Amino acid sequence: MSVRAGIVVTGTEVLTGRVADLNGPWLADRLLELGVELAHITICGDRPADIEAQLRFLADQGVDLIITSGGLGPTADDMTVEVVARFCGRELVLDQQLEATITAILQRLMARFTGVDFEAVRAANRKQALVPLGAQVIDPVGTAPGVVVPGKPTVVVLPGPPRELQPMWHTAVATDAVQTAIAGRTMYRQDTVRMFGLPESGVADTLRDAEKAIPGFDALEITTCLRRGEVEMVTRYEPQAAPMYAALVELLHERHDREIFSEDGSRVDDQVARLLAGRRIAVAESCTAGLLAARLTELPGSSAYVAGGVVAYANEAKTQLLGVAAELIDTHGAVSEPVAEAMARGVLGRFDANTAIAITGIAGPGGGTDDKPVGTVCFSVLLAGAAPVTHTLRLPGNRNDIRERSTTVAMHLLRRALMETT
Ligand code: ATP
Ligand code: MG
Repeated sequence: MSVRAGIVVTGTEVLTGRVADLNGPWLADRLLELGVELAHITICGDRPADIEAQLRFLADQGVDLIITSGGLGPTADDMTVEVVARFCGRELVLDQQLEATITAILQRLMARFTGVDFEAVRAANRKQALVPLGAQVIDPVGTAPGVVVPGKPTVVVLPGPPRELQPMWHTAVATDAVQTAIAGRTMYRQDTVRMFGLPESGVADTLRDAEKAIPGFDALEITTCLRRGEVEMVTRYEPQAAPMYAALVELLHERHDREIFSEDGSRVDDQVARLLAGRRIAVAESCTAGLLAARLTELPGSSAYVAGGVVAYANEAKTQLLGVAAELIDTHGAVSEPVAEAMARGVLGRFDANTAIAITGIAGPGGGTDDKPVGTVCFSVLLAGAAPVTHTLRLPGNRNDIRERSTTVAMHLLRRALMETT
């Protein structure tokens, strides 16, 4: 038997998109780790009737656990506890110990301000010490306490600010009420395979074949997602389905061996970071305007191996800063493989590096021609003592898409070149 949960995110600022919801996805990950199946995340504004409707909806779906986020503050539009109490058929009662806790927190906060009417603030906050009868209180991390109301479903009420919600969730999970609600959960395993240079439809074909070829394939819950040219395949399964997962991975290797770059959850960035250890890399960029250099500096340990980079947009900059011969640009154009190679060679020497990568392409609208349309990007990877590895690709999308895709392609070219030398 599996345990299901629902999340109600409240807050007009989240509903209108002014604040991006961080709590739903964060709680979704925690539920997954726990082996609780998440049925729905709903979002509504700070209106009691709407919050109640969502609680009703989730309860009607038969979930065992509902988690709410937001609306626990002292102001009149913060009504979640009241709504939940009504929904669970429980009276609100003043928790005196909690009131004392909130008062102490407020006194500490108010000490920083002068001329505040402490009694008025305290009266407004007394509301936060009202808890549904029989609920378990989760002590505040900020000023708003949370509550766990036992029952079917059990309702966990948490504040909106993520830095408060996150530690309070861990406290809530440990309560008897939540442990009882999730007692029947299944422990799932989750594994990720990442591939590059393969359309999502290619994976879809393989999965269709896998369904026919692998007995018990239905026990695998597979999600594929295409992001920045990488296909990420996440599979969730119960431990007894491990042989089916192994068979699936074997089939993927048969079909897409070269495209698979990660089976252990690592990202291309993690892998490039490991491969660059002990080296010295320099970057020459045109259309990506420094984004690759920025991405490299975010890698762990980057200060030891990232020497630096040059953003050379104008032709003169390529000539003066990177030593690209003006005739080369005239003959082949700034976006060309010979120029990409010359940029890599130039930046390698300029930074006294042993690893270099160059990108020159057309990302912006209006820069394209018939034979070099927007999205044409040339890459060159140069490792000292080896021949450069140079490729030209045509990348889809707008300027941002092309730039992002270009940095990802560059990471994969670097990875391949470095793996071949080590
Ligand atoms: P407070 O005592 O801070 O008012 P609260 O529980 O009433 O606590 P909200 O009023 O719902 O919380 O939200 C306060 C702020 O927390 C929001 O303005 C927003 O910045 C942040 N926040 C709330 N919900 C979310 C969310 N789902 N994702 C990201 N940030 C959020
Ligand atoms: Mg609030």
